[in-house]
Amino acid sequence: MSRAARRYAMTVDTRLCVGCKACVLSCKAENDVPDGFCRDWIVEDVAGEFPKLSAEIRSERCNHCTDAPCVKACPTGASHVNEGGVVLVTHGKCSGCKACIAACPYDARFVHPKGYVDKCTFCLHRVKKGLEPGCVAVCPTETLTFGDRNDSSSAVARKLASRRWKVNHPESGAEPNLFFLV
Ligand code: SF4
Ligand code: SF4
Repeated sequence: MSRAARRYAMTVDTRLCVGCKACVLSCKAENDVPDGFCRDWIVEDVAGEFPKLSAEIRSERCNHCTDAPCVKACPTGASHVNEGGVVLVTHGKCSGCKACIAACPYDARFVHPKGYVDKCTFCLHRVKKGLEPGCVAVCPTETLTFGDRNDSSSAVARKLASRRWKVNHPESGAEPNLFFLV
């Protein structure tokens, strides 16, 4: 029986995240993200009415969408699907036209001061060496899990099978691969 192609994904356990931003700082250091920009960020949502309030903290980043609007919008082919479905930008091919930024439902991209569009890469350079993405490696509460969701034995697939989860903007049709465990 042939095995399904690898499909990298990340789960974010909203019950565990404490909003410490270690993931954000690790990403900045790992990927030399310039001052004033970030490839991942923290969202804190408060829901309900006093005194029945509930808070949810989410570590967010590019969703490496299966049907990525940014890739479809890119006129130069700079935005493309790479190994394991990871969406990357080839810096040398990027004209900085921002069509991908307009197309992304998740506001996951920014123009790097060097002129190309930049965003999370799921740290594919680390993953290729058998390492976890920088954010996953440093999270002190093990909120983040990365792996191949098409491999039923992977931690990420097991979490998706055993927990309730949601995605941001499911209505976009982009088929995001960043899952929030609730
Ligand atoms: Fe949340 Fe972990 Fe990021 Fe801290 S490092 S903000 S706990 S995801
Ligand atoms: Fe592209 Fe945005 Fe989806 Fe990332 S989240 S793959 S930048 S559309």
